[in-house]
Parts: sequence; structure tokens; C-alpha cells
Amino acid sequence: MSLRTYFSLQEIQNEISQSQLTCTELVAQYLHNIEKKKHLNVFLEVYAEEATAKAKEVDAKIANGTAGRLAGMVIGLKDVLCHKDHGLQGSSKILSQFVSQFNGTAIQRILDEDAIVIGRQSCDEFAMGSSNEKSAFGPVLNEADNSRVPGGSSGASAVAVQADLCLASLGSDTGGSVRQPAAFCGVVGLKPTYSRVSRFGLIAYASSFDCIGPITRSVEDAALLLEIIAGKDDYDSTVSQSTVPQYSNLLNFNKKVKIGYLKESVESEGVSFEIREKLQNTIDKLKTDGHELTPIELPYLDYLLPVYYILTTAEASTNLSRYDGVRYGMRSANTKDLESMYKKTREEGFGKEVKKRIMLGTFVLSASYFDAYYNKAQKVRRLIKDSSVKLFEQYDFLLMPTTPTTAFKIGEMNEDPLAMYLADIFTVHANLAGLPAISLPIGKDSSGLPIGMQLVSNYFEEDSLLAFSKYLMNKN
Ligand code: GLN
Repeated sequence: MSLRTYFSLQEIQNEISQSQLTCTELVAQYLHNIEKKKHLNVFLEVYAEEATAKAKEVDAKIANGTAGRLAGMVIGLKDVLCHKDHGLQGSSKILSQFVSQFNGTAIQRILDEDAIVIGRQSCDEFAMGSSNEKSAFGPVLNEADNSRVPGGSSGASAVAVQADLCLASLGSDTGGSVRQPAAFCGVVGLKPTYSRVSRFGLIAYASSFDCIGPITRSVEDAALLLEIIAGKDDYDSTVSQSTVPQYSNLLNFNKKVKIGYLKESVESEGVSFEIREKLQNTIDKLKTDGHELTPIELPYLDYLLPVYYILTTAEASTNLSRYDGVRYGMRSANTKDLESMYKKTREEGFGKEVKKRIMLGTFVLSASYFDAYYNKAQKVRRLIKDSSVKLFEQYDFLLMPTTPTTAFKIGEMNEDPLAMYLADIFTVHANLAGLPAISLPIGKDSSGLPIGMQLVSNYFEEDSLLAFSKYLMNKN
């Protein structure tokens, strides 16, 4: 069996059109890789038979010229995305045995274009975490170094692409969950503008932040997937009505741009030396190419994480109140009345991190603290948004590392949850402001661990963000 690694759908489709490859062979190859790399703990379920059958169907469609645009794309889904008649549990015990009754909009759209879904990928429970250690199904391992985390919460989805278990994954990003694991695993992770992609069929964590986004090896695939999943949708009233550009046809980039790079990220000791060095190299190269690079300060940097954690826990405490033992998934066997059923189900079903966040969120929403925390945080969020809009009056893109360090060791952050929250310091900004952002692999540190760089653009400018990303990837 050929064990070639494919970097983009285009490569696969070229081979298919030259009769060097079939979807059936491709699926067999990925299934073989999944079996060989089981120890990484990526998939909660692998749809071997179904993917093989679908591959045959797509091969037939290719032969008669009726195949969709994603023919040849083998994809994995983070366990927060509704996929009809398939298990779905947010990697939580509380949703054991739950089966999705419909397809989320993004899923329906990739299926309509003939993507082949190969399985359901683990994540931090209800997408809360930065390490994929908080899944009810145990930690997921980084393929670059099995003693390290892949990042989170879409950690498994990033490892799946890194370890060649599928060509792409769909994840979700509330505070960095697509970009941070993409950085730790050396792949591309895109968080679109808030409201660009329908959230219908995405398990809600913090609804005013949540975004579905692709994890891929190439910028081209990220562009194509976004173009397919984005756009208006009757099932999500928050989704943008604006037309979706054909991102994959707009990837040529040949102008000079103004970039604001985060001064702290090349100067601060809080960012690891090798990351600063790599970022500085990129900055120097871009300057040589005639782009204008200016050091900037990200307004309210010190407030980003506190505001993020106040607002997301508040929203999570509301969203997760639906898991009560009545409507979805598991119900505790040790109950004697209605109240004990609620309590026991939630006590046994939720993991520690999720409980912590529900309690924090309930606290910041409680009558006596609502103004002091929740309302105040909303006001600061508005300031963060407004100051971001101002930045884009001067700059085309913002540039910074995706993460302050490379992948940390499994268990390393157990004693210090705040240190773990710091892993998101550079990613939460885009979610607070609702801006699109992408993490691109820009090399490795001396221990061989991937380093990611983040680019942020103005609202709905994914077209130039992606085009510039492609240009940058070609330089590296
Ligand atoms: N690590 C962040 C959190 O735990 C981000 C999670 C996410 O983007 N889903 O909230």
C-alpha cells in the first residue's frame, strides 16, 4: 500500500484524475494509518465501513462526472459537531449514548460536496481546555513528541491532520481551540469572523464566541472548506447574510501591506526564546520584501483572559444547564427524586473542569455580582472591539505568535490551571473581538516541536487573510 502523505486536496484530485489513485484506496490508506497510530488516542469512533462505502460511491461519481468539490477529501469531525445518526458527546460522560438526530449546517454542506467523514475525534470536554487532557476518554498525544499535549480543545483534530490520519478536520474555536492545537501540531488552523459560519449543529459552549473552523495542512484546503461551510443559514439567526467570496480562487497575493506586530511577542520573556526568534525572522523577511512592519501594543492585553473567562463561563453555565438527565444522554442510576436526579446526573456526568466553569459562570451571573463581573466584562469587551477596529484603520494584518510556548508536557499544568489559561493569551483576542485569525506553521524549535504564527485581519476579510497566508507559507 502506498503511504504517501498528501498536503492538499488538489494533489489528491490530480492523482485521481490521472488514474493513479481512487477514493477507495485513499480511505484504506487513512484507515491503515489510524490503526497504526491508535496510541495517539485521536478517534472516539472510526467509521471504517461507512467511509469505505462512501469512497466507492464518490469514485463512481467521479467516473461519471457528477462528483462534488470535496471529492477525495477525507475528513474528521471534532466531537462537538452534529452528524446525523452518529454518536455525539462533547467528549463528556454526560452525553454517553447520545446520537445526533440531524446534520449541523457545516456538516451538511461538506457532505453535499462529497467529503468522506472518517470518524469522530476526541476533544477537551465540551471544548473547555487547551491541552486535550480534559476529555472523558483520556489525553490525546502529540505526534511530534508523545509525552506532550497536542493543545486543545480541538487537539485530536489537529493530531489527526499532523499524523496523516485524514486530510482535514473540522473543529471549533471559542478562545483558540482551532489555532492553538494547530500551532502545537504544525498544521494550519483557521477561525473565521464570528457569524461567518453557521453554528447550527455545534454543541454550544459560549455562544457569542463559538466558531467552526477547519484544520488542514494547506492554506488552499482551509480556503476551500471555508467557502463551502460559510454563508447564510435559516437555522442560525446570528449568521451573516453577506455573500461568501470564492476564497479558493482568490489566493493570489501581490501587494505591499501594513502589518502591526505585537511588540511584546518579540520582546517579552514570557514568550519562549525560539518562538521570538522565528517570529523575528519572519518579520525581517517581510520587511525585505517591502512590506511595512510596525511594532504595536495590543490594547487591553492584560484584560483579555479575565474578560474571556468571565464571559465564556457565564455563557457556558447557561448553555450547559440543558444537560439535566431529562433531555439528553445519561441519567444517573442513583436517584430518588427529581432534585437528586439533576444533582447526581450532573455530578457523575460532568468532569472537574466543566463543573468549575459552570460554578464560575453561575457566580458571575448571580444577582449580587452581575454588575461587578458580567456587566463590567461586557463593557471591556466593547472597548476591546472598538480598539481593534481602530487598529485596522492603520494596518491590514496583525501578527503575533499563536502561543507563548511550544507544546507542553502531559500533566505539566495540572498543578497550575492559570498557567494553562495563559496558553490562550494571544488567541482569545480574536474571539473577544469576533475577528478572523489563522495559525500557520513557521518551523520547529530545537526539540522538534512545531511553532505557530498567528495572523489576524479585519472583519470578513478572510479572502486577503488567506491569500497573504499562502504567500507567507510559500516563503517559509
Ligand atoms: N482554551 C480555551 C478555553 O478553555 C479555548 C477553548 C476553545 O476555544 N473551545 O476556554
